[in-house]
Amino acid sequence: MSNYDVVVIGGGPGGYNAAIRAGQLGLKVACVEGRETLGGTCLNVGCMPSKALLHASELYEAAVGPEFAKLGIEVKPSLNLAQMMKQKDESVTTLTKGIEFLFRKNKAEWIKGWGRIDGPGKVVVKAADGSEQVLTAKDIVIATGSEPTPLPGVTIDNKRILDSTGALSLPEVPKHLVVVGAGVIGLELGSVWRRLGSEVTVVEYLDRICPGLDLETGKTFQRSLAKQGFNFKLGSKVSSAKATAKGVTLEIEPAAGGEKETLKADYVLVAIGRRPFTQGLGLETVGITPDKRGMLENQKHRSGVPGIWIIGDVTSGPMLAHKAEDEAIACIEQIVGKAGEVNYALIPSVIYTKPEVATVGKTEEQLKAEGRAYKVGKFPFAGNSRAKINHESEGFVKVLADERTDEVLGVHLIGPSVSELIGEYCVAMEFAASAEDIALTCHPHPTRSEALRQAAMNVDGWAMQA
Ligand SMILES: Cc1cc2nc3c(=O)[nH]c(=O)nc-3n(C[C@H](O)[C@H](O)[C@H](O)COP(=O)(O)OP(=O)(O)OC[C@H]3O[C@@H](n4cnc5c(N)ncnc54)[C@H](O)[C@@H]3O)c2cc1C
Repeated sequence: MSNYDVVVIGGGPGGYNAAIRAGQLGLKVACVEGRETLGGTCLNVGCMPSKALLHASELYEAAVGPEFAKLGIEVKPSLNLAQMMKQKDESVTTLTKGIEFLFRKNKAEWIKGWGRIDGPGKVVVKAADGSEQVLTAKDIVIATGSEPTPLPGVTIDNKRILDSTGALSLPEVPKHLVVVGAGVIGLELGSVWRRLGSEVTVVEYLDRICPGLDLETGKTFQRSLAKQGFNFKLGSKVSSAKATAKGVTLEIEPAAGGEKETLKADYVLVAIGRRPFTQGLGLETVGITPDKRGMLENQKHRSGVPGIWIIGDVTSGPMLAHKAEDEAIACIEQIVGKAGEVNYALIPSVIYTKPEVATVGKTEEQLKAEGRAYKVGKFPFAGNSRAKINHESEGFVKVLADERTDEVLGVHLIGPSVSELIGEYCVAMEFAASAEDIALTCHPHPTRSEALRQAAMNVDGWAMQA
């Protein structure tokens, strides 16, 4: 039996960051992870491999299409899919090994195996060889993450009918890929395969894509994807999907009811969301019951059972790696008596397609529903010299500010590299900046970040470059 201050169950962005922070703060900490590598969904089958393929496929499309030729670069590219997958896998290995290094650096111990809570303060870990060890701890942090939500009536075989993990490792470029679900994961992975040559059809139950997005931004995004060749079947549901060795036949019907149609694809990606993962966790031994969606409730990361904490995808809030990381820090800081706190109002969200979409804070629709008076400042990337010179002038920056105080309440970006730009507004909004604060801040020229400033100027109608 080994004794710790903290045992973290799960080695994803929630769990590994909790273990690292605990080590930094001098706690004796172990992190139990059942996978063969640390890093969780994010590093192994999520954020990182998807971004590796998005990056490579974006360059491929630029080289193959008119983009390179327009720049005067004449090449005859051909796709080596095996190499594209290999470089992705190698990058993932480097990153997961990096977490092992950080564990050693911060004296966090990785216990390999699947953990099961066995009453208060006790975790039993079963290793791959079947052997078991018992860990005891004053505090246990549950960070067991999430898994793809299955679609009733559709069996994922990861041969023809895929979840996101399967779609990250296809052996060939599909001729026709049907993506079920127009959320972030479906559109990112759909983009990868469209760029590599697939025809992509997205079937979505709702009548819009990415329903959480600011409406105007979402409409612009959908138009842009449609222009790239995405086919959208909105307001439609998949009632069945039958796979053979060669392909899949899907039955689709209007969400509101009506005539069915048949769709044929050689691969189908089911990306209708993710659900909390708590299988075999022994929650019953401490009296914790997941809610109807399988979610573990928390109050400031506390489970309600003394000494048991909950962070990351397994609990409420957006299923995002940086949200899990923030909760990890706050949870461990509370364990040592510090005032750990997560500002849920300012968790940014990004879609890594082309154009990228990045948002933080309130949407216009939310402000309207709250009856809050607001001003809008918009600026198109077509007015930004850096974006124009790079031939990436699609999209805009939209800043929503309180009508009376001018405080920035929401920012919605669609355009080039906006994933890297949104952080400026995250910091500004944490400091309760006004739009004028941004408008009067010097930004480097020529950069896309100038569009952020011009949009802030336009909150009071004085953008100077459009
Ligand atoms: C394709 C895809 C792309 C994504 N892209 C992004 C992105 O760009 N940006 C972003 O912010 N988020 C992205 N996400 C979401 C992100 O991956 C998750 O929000 C994040 O990984 C959640 O972290 P977590 O630590 O809560 O859980 P996870 O990362 O799911 O980690 C949980 C870990 O716990 C382990 N575990 C579970 N139960 C046990 C047990 N009983 N014993 C031992 N180990 C256990 C699991 O094996 C897993 O490794 C993406 C997800 C997917 C699928």
